[in-house]
Amino acid sequence: MSEFRVPKYRGLVPYVPGEQPRERRYIKLNTNESPYPPSPRALERGRAALDTLALYPDPTMAALRAAIAEDLGVSPDWVLPTNGSDEILSFAFAAFCDADTPAVFPDITYGFYRVFADLYGVPARVIPLREDFTIAPEEYFAVGGTLFIANPNAPTGIALPLTALREILLHNRENVVVVDEAYVDFGGESALALLAEFENLVVTRTFSKSRSMAGARLGFGIAHPALIADMTAIKDSTNPYNVNRVTAEMGIGSIEDRAYFEENCKKIIETRESLAAGLTDLGFSVLPSCANFLFIRHPRIGGEALYTELRRRGILVRHFAAERIRDYNRVTVGAREEAEALLRAMKEIGETI
Ligand SMILES: *Cc1c(COP(=O)(O)O)cnc(C)c1O
Repeated sequence: MSEFRVPKYRGLVPYVPGEQPRERRYIKLNTNESPYPPSPRALERGRAALDTLALYPDPTMAALRAAIAEDLGVSPDWVLPTNGSDEILSFAFAAFCDADTPAVFPDITYGFYRVFADLYGVPARVIPLREDFTIAPEEYFAVGGTLFIANPNAPTGIALPLTALREILLHNRENVVVVDEAYVDFGGESALALLAEFENLVVTRTFSKSRSMAGARLGFGIAHPALIADMTAIKDSTNPYNVNRVTAEMGIGSIEDRAYFEENCKKIIETRESLAAGLTDLGFSVLPSCANFLFIRHPRIGGEALYTELRRRGILVRHFAAERIRDYNRVTVGAREEAEALLRAMKEIGETI
């Protein structure tokens, strides 16, 4: 740290992304990327856009917004595309949280919420999940701040039923409620159905997981136009050109290729279920997942030890050295062959430890 860093940022603890190792080839099951490439249609449109890179992108992202809006059955002024969904979350923190309006989220959830709260200097009110890592809806009534709920949740994979989410919304009419649907395409119930009823609801989505575009950085928010205007004001005050031309065209291509998207989601759900069964057979407890990852624990092998043993065998998973979850590992559901390799390694580890 230099002497020039301003005091308010000296204690900043940044988000720590999963490793992206270069020293050897790993089976990478640590950052919930897709094992499949982007849609051929997305690649084709992205390549064509390369020729136009001398020009700035359309700051209103009209074509991409129209494509997203049509796909989801909303009007384009309900959509704001961003540089990954982390950026729409960042805009939501900037627009809807301050010293008097804390950020409210569960104790076990996406680690970035805490980081954004610290970055923007807003207090965080943390509400513990139940012992089984589910949300007790009544504890999230009248939270007195801006509520962030990942649904399905990370790193547990557990989904909150729409009926419970609606209860939470009914009791938070005074607060903005942000529902982070990064994993919804793998089996969760979307809060989009509640948008017409709740003008205080923001739904965030990403192309990083189910649409195989983590490296292109594309996400978006869907909300009432007044909330979209609030977040657009933040975007236009930081980076009006937040989504580049190639990524925007890839996004349109991905949406056009619905069959490819649905097929990939289906394959991942099938692999998830067979991987969960295989791990259960090996003695693991596996939390019920509606995402593209499993949160697992072995009765005899500690979380960190399991992480290390897998790494030695060329498989990367994600271990969080945090209270309540240090005995667990989060394992991305990869391609079928990757899941099979994981099961073989787990069997070996179980036999030697
Ligand atoms: C991966 C993830 C995101 C953001 O991913 P982007 O690549 O920035 O779109 C947001 N929320 C959760 C819960 C995630 O797991």
